[in-house]
Amino acid sequence: MAPVPKKFDYLVLGGGSGGIASARRAAEYGVKVGLIEEARLGGTCVNVGCVPKKVSWYAAWQRELMHNFKDYGFDFEYKGFNWPSFKAKRDAYIERLNGIYERNLESSKVELIKGRGRFVDPKTIQVGEEMYTADHITIAVGGRPRIPEVLGAEFGIDSDGFFELKELPKKALIVGSGYIAVEIAGVFNALGVDTTVVIRKAAILRSFEHFLGSHLMHQMKADGVKFETRDSVSRVDQDGSLLTVTTQTGKIIPDVDCLLWAVGRDPHVGGLGLEAAKVEQDENGHIIVDEFQNTSSKSIYALGDVCGKALLTPVAIAAGRRLAMRLFNKQKDLKLDYDNIPTVIFSHPPIGSIGLTEYEARDKFGAENVRSYESTFNPMYYALCERKVKTTMKLVCAGADEKVVGLHMIGDSVDEILQGFGVAIKMGATKSQFDSCVAIHPTSAEELVTMR
Ligand SMILES: Cc1cc2nc3c(=O)[nH]c(=O)nc-3n(C[C@H](O)[C@H](O)[C@H](O)COP(=O)(O)OP(=O)(O)OC[C@H]3O[C@@H](n4cnc5c(N)ncnc54)[C@H](O)[C@@H]3O)c2cc1C
Repeated sequence: MAPVPKKFDYLVLGGGSGGIASARRAAEYGVKVGLIEEARLGGTCVNVGCVPKKVSWYAAWQRELMHNFKDYGFDFEYKGFNWPSFKAKRDAYIERLNGIYERNLESSKVELIKGRGRFVDPKTIQVGEEMYTADHITIAVGGRPRIPEVLGAEFGIDSDGFFELKELPKKALIVGSGYIAVEIAGVFNALGVDTTVVIRKAAILRSFEHFLGSHLMHQMKADGVKFETRDSVSRVDQDGSLLTVTTQTGKIIPDVDCLLWAVGRDPHVGGLGLEAAKVEQDENGHIIVDEFQNTSSKSIYALGDVCGKALLTPVAIAAGRRLAMRLFNKQKDLKLDYDNIPTVIFSHPPIGSIGLTEYEARDKFGAENVRSYESTFNPMYYALCERKVKTTMKLVCAGADEKVVGLHMIGDSVDEILQGFGVAIKMGATKSQFDSCVAIHPTSAEELVTMR
C-alpha cells in the first residue's frame, strides 16, 4: 500500500536562492512549510555560483592591484599564489554558509526534507520512499551547466568543476562568450594561467550594450587573454593529463590542462515528473509562468532559473518572497517587476548594466526620441601607474524629459556604483535629476552626474 502523504500548507522543491527565500518568508505567516533539497543548502549561488565566484574574483583582484604596487612606491616582489590554500579557505567559508542556511531554516521552523523530489501527481511529491502533499507547491530547482555534443566533451569541466579544481591549471581553454566564460577567464588570467577563450562569433557579451563587450575584450587582450573568434571546438583528445583541442577552423591547441565549457545553462527539470504535475514547459525546457509565477497547473508555482528569465540570485529571492506574501499574507496583487533589474559582471574590470541598450531604446521610443551620453576616462587611481584600465559609462535617455532608461558601464568599482543609480532609475529619474545631484569628487561615479 502506498504511504499516506505527509501534509504541508506549502512545499518548496529546491533549497537554493529562490526556494529558501520563499519557504522562510511563508513560515513567517505561521503556515506549515516543507523544503525539499537533494544537495547542499544554498543552491547554485552559495555552492557553485555567486559566492565562490566572487571570492575567486577577489583573489584575482588582489593580484591585479599588485601590478601597481611599485608605481605607488612599494618595494614589492610577487612570489606566487597558493591555490590549494586559497581553495581550502574558500571551501570552509562555503561550508560555514551551508550551516548557517540550515540553522536559519530551523529557526524559521521550515522542515527540511533531504533528497530528490519528483511529482507523482499535481498534489503529491515523492522523496525516496516518502510522499508529501501541500495546498501550494513551488518549483525552484534552478539550472545546470550545458555540455555541448562534441567528440571528447567529457574531458572538459563546467563551471561547477571550476570550483573543484585542486590545482591552478597552467593552460586553460574556455569555451563561451557569456558572463560565466569571461568571469572565469578573468580569474585564471589574473592568477597567471595561460588563458584562451573560444567564441562562436566575433564579440563577447552580445546581449549587452555593445561597447561593454568590445571594451572588455580589448582590456582582456591587453592583460594577456587570447581569443579564438568565429570558431568552436570540434573534438577533444586526451593524452595523459593533457588535452589537445581541435577547432572547426582546423586549429589545434595542444597541452591544455583545463578545458572549461561555459556555453549556457539548462533548467534542472530531468526526472521531475512535470508531466504528472501537468506543468507546461517552453521549447528549451523552462517552466512557463505568468507574471505571478503561476504555472499551467493550479496551485503549482515556479520561480528562479528554472523559468529562464533574468537568471540572478536576487531575482529568484525577490520572486520567492513576493510569492509567499501573495499566497499567505493576503497581498493578492504582489508580483515581481522584471523591468530595470541591475546586473553586474565580475570581469576585470567589472561591468554594471541596467535597463535598455541604446538599440532597444531606439526600437521602443523611436531613434529621434533617444539621446545617449557617453564618457571614457582613466580613473585617478591609474594617474601614477604605468598600467591603465579605462572606464566607460553610458546613459541612454528617452523622451522630451530625457528619462534615463539605460545605464551601462565598465571600469573599476562600477559593480558597487550601480546599486544606488539603480534606485534612481527604478524611480524614473531624468537626466536633469541626475545632474541636480552634486558630484562627489574625486570619484569615478561623479561622471554619471556631470555628463554633457
Ligand atoms: C558560475 C556562476 C556564477 C554566478 N554568479 C552570479 C552572481 O554573481 N550574481 C547573481 O545574482 N547570480 C549569479 N549566478 C546565478 C545564480 O546562482 C542563480 O541565478 C541562482 O542561484 C538561481 O536560484 P534558484 O533558486 O533559481 O536555483 P538554485 O540556486 O540553482 O537552487 C536550486 C536548488 O534545487 C535543488 N534541486 C534541483 N532539483 C531538485 C529536486 N528534484 N529535488 C530536490 N532538490 C532539487 C538543487 O540541488 C539546488 O540546490 C551565477 C551562476 C553561476 C553558475
